[in-house]
Amino acid sequence: MTSLDDLPLRDELRGMTPYGAPQLDVAVRLNTNENSYPVPEAAVAEMEKALGSVLRDLNRYPDRDAVALRTDLAAYLGHGLTGKNVWAANGSNEIQQELLQTFAGPGRVALGFTPSYSMHPLLAAGTGTTWVDGRRGDDFALTAEHAVAKVRETEPDLVFLCSPNNPTGTALPLEVVEAVAETAPGMVVVDEAYAEFARAGTVFALSLIQRYPRLVVTRTMSKAFALAGGRLGYLAADPAVVDAVQLVRLPYHLSAMTQAVARAALAHTDALLSTVDAVKEQRDRIVETLRGWGLPVADSDANFVLFGAPGGDSKGAWQALLDRGVLIRDVGLPGWLRVTAGTPDETSAFLNALEELL
Ligand SMILES: *Cc1c(COP(=O)(O)O)cnc(C)c1O
Repeated sequence: MTSLDDLPLRDELRGMTPYGAPQLDVAVRLNTNENSYPVPEAAVAEMEKALGSVLRDLNRYPDRDAVALRTDLAAYLGHGLTGKNVWAANGSNEIQQELLQTFAGPGRVALGFTPSYSMHPLLAAGTGTTWVDGRRGDDFALTAEHAVAKVRETEPDLVFLCSPNNPTGTALPLEVVEAVAETAPGMVVVDEAYAEFARAGTVFALSLIQRYPRLVVTRTMSKAFALAGGRLGYLAADPAVVDAVQLVRLPYHLSAMTQAVARAALAHTDALLSTVDAVKEQRDRIVETLRGWGLPVADSDANFVLFGAPGGDSKGAWQALLDRGVLIRDVGLPGWLRVTAGTPDETSAFLNALEELL
C-alpha cells in the first residue's frame, strides 16, 4: 500500500488532515450550517427552466466573466455596488483561495484570529502562505485594540476577519473592521458567509468598500440562500481587486449550469430568503433554552449556536447526541460544541436529546 509518506508531498502539507465534517447518515444533521429547508418549488421550477436553456449550448464554454450573474449579485447586495465590484466562483472558499493566490502565497503572511473558520489556515497552507494566528480572547471576542496590535506586530499581506464568526456565531462590531482596514498594510478579507442571519442592527463591511480599496467582503449562497449544493460564492470589493483576481482564476471556472442556477435563484431571492426568519427563530430558541439550563452560550448572529457541553465534556456529549440520532459539530474547542439551527422539529430533536444529558 502506498501512503502519503511515500509521495513527494510539499513539506507544509505533511501531517495535515483534509477539511471534513463527517457526512453521516443520521436522522437529524445539524453539523454543517446548511439551511435545513429545501429550495422552494417556485425557484426549483425556474432553475429547471434555466438549466434547460443552457444544456443545448454546453458545447460552448460559459461566459468566462459571468457578467450577468455578477450584475445580479451586485443588485442583491445594494450599497451602490455594480457588477464591476463583484466576482463569483464555486463557493466562497474558491474566492478566498483566489485572494490568497493573488495577494499572499510563498514568502507572504496571512493573519487570522482563531477560533474562526478552519478553512482559512487550510487555504493558506494550500497556497504556500505563512499563517499567523492572532488568537481571540477566552470570551471569543475580538477587540479593535487586540486586532490592531496583531496587525502591527505581523504586518500581514492579508488579514482574515469573519463576521458573524464561525464557530462562535457573533458578528464583529464594524469598528473592528474599520480599525483593521485603517492599519493593515495589505488586504483585509471579511468573510460574511452568515450575514443574512445577523440580529437586527448589525452593520456589515459592505458599507466600507467604497472607502477602503484593499477591503474585500466574501459572501455565499450556501447558507441563507439554501444553495450549498449549487456552489456559488462571491466577493465584493473595489473593481481593481476584481481585476487582480483575474490573474489567478481558472478560465471558464464557473460552469454555465452554475451561473444559470444561481441567476434563477437570485430571481427568487424573496422566496429563498423566506426561511431566514424561521431559522433565526430556532436559533434564538436554542440560545434561550440552553441559557435557561445554565449552559454557557455565545451570542449568535448566524444560523448556528456555540454552547458549552454539559459537564464540559464535549466529546462525550457529541457522541451521546449522535447515539440519539442527532449529529452536531465538535469544532475542536475543548468543552464547546456547535449546533446548526434547523427546522422546528430538528431543533426539538436536538433540545430533547441534549436535555437527557443534563
Ligand atoms: C459555510 C462557510 C462558508 C461557505 O463556503 P462556500 O464555499 O461558499 O460553501 C464560508 N465561510 C464560512 C465562515 C463558512 O462557515
